[in-house]
Amino acid sequence: MSLIVQKYGGTSVGSTERIHNVAKRILETQRSGNQVVAVVSAMAGVTNRLIEMANEVSPENEPTEREMDVLLSTGEQTTIALTSMAINALGGKAISLTGSQAGIFTDGEHTKARISNISPDEVQRLLDEDHIVILAGFQGSSPDGRITTLGRGGSDLTAIAMAAAINADLCQILTDVDGVYTCDPRIVSNAKKIDEISYDEMLEMASSGSKVMQSRSVEFAKKFGVKFEVKSSLNNNPGTIVTEEHPNMESVVVRGISIEKEQAKVTIENVSDEPGVASKIFHAISDSGVIIDMIVQNVSKTNHTDISFTLHRSDLKKAKQTIEPMLANLGENVEMETTDGIGKLSVVGIGMRSHSGVAAQMFSALAKGGVNIQMISTSEIKTAVIIEENGLEEAANIVHEAFNL
Ligand code: ADP
Ligand code: ASP
Ligand code: MG
Repeated sequence: MSLIVQKYGGTSVGSTERIHNVAKRILETQRSGNQVVAVVSAMAGVTNRLIEMANEVSPENEPTEREMDVLLSTGEQTTIALTSMAINALGGKAISLTGSQAGIFTDGEHTKARISNISPDEVQRLLDEDHIVILAGFQGSSPDGRITTLGRGGSDLTAIAMAAAINADLCQILTDVDGVYTCDPRIVSNAKKIDEISYDEMLEMASSGSKVMQSRSVEFAKKFGVKFEVKSSLNNNPGTIVTEEHPNMESVVVRGISIEKEQAKVTIENVSDEPGVASKIFHAISDSGVIIDMIVQNVSKTNHTDISFTLHRSDLKKAKQTIEPMLANLGENVEMETTDGIGKLSVVGIGMRSHSGVAAQMFSALAKGGVNIQMISTSEIKTAVIIEENGLEEAANIVHEAFNL
């Protein structure tokens, strides 16, 4: 008998008919001789709708994050009850648990809480009594008993963390695609399914826009060595195994391509080239809660330099409001310029560590396609460029083709 954790995403439980199909699949998994914990997300669109409603009732001031979490956790709570009912209606024995009932404890950081520990006794007890446990994704409980949520896409994290806590034999992330592809198949129609990918590659892809997995869940899986499979909830095709890196993986130079839309850029021109300037700017930005991505500083020729950074477009207003009052303190003639309408294109692969020329090949493909590169950043296993958002999808196709993915 194996202990299996399955996670069904929003689209897979997007209607009562789909919940019925998911219920059948969960029951079949148990009837093949396994113990099953099934983590479910809110039905497709529900979390977004709840956020819209929160903004509608508090248009002037932002709703408090405590109340946001009370609200958002209801999406998953609806799905656990319906899924359990559907399984029971099919003659199975299922029971639903909220995050807190399942012993998922987090810190107190509402809307982006981190799991601090899991006490799986109740889950274990119910499994031992032959129940199927239907667990609400994306939620937990703070040390003082407040409901918390784990950040968008957080049901992936619930599944991986619970798999680690109960030492599951198998963790499956069941979604609306057959696995992790060389690029989002909705953008590159001939993208191919990847059979196996390392944690680091999955992490780089997830954090640079491949939303098929929540990046924090991949980080967690790497830390605790949870091997998992991303596969379709609609068929039984083999999916993508996400696991520890092994030497054979290095023979593939580029594993995949990610794009991230809705980026923006802030450039602060003519700042004095002296110690402490970057520190002032980025401390202020960090204190304002804005998350930044790439940072580029020019070489200074005249004791002055330009500093640019990118961020999500929705944070641009806050970043401008933070920097504007500081400009005079950063040197004479300091100016700020901002741009939105840009996006990021990244190529990822652990083979880049041992193969040269990936950046050159990427840049020449973009040049041939007439795509202008505005910023470049690299890590050991990633090369990323900022380009116009309008041409982002076409550029992804061009680069995908250039690397024969
Ligand atoms: P779920 O609701 O099951 O959590 P998500 O919408 O979060 O599903 O993730 C699945 C979606 O991720 C796919 O429909 C696909 O459009 C998108 N996606 C982005 N990048 C990739 C990729 N590299 N491989 C597969 N899917 C991707
Ligand atoms: N329902 C949450 C979201 O939409 C969590 C999840 O689906 O994983 O972000
Ligand atoms: Mg998801």
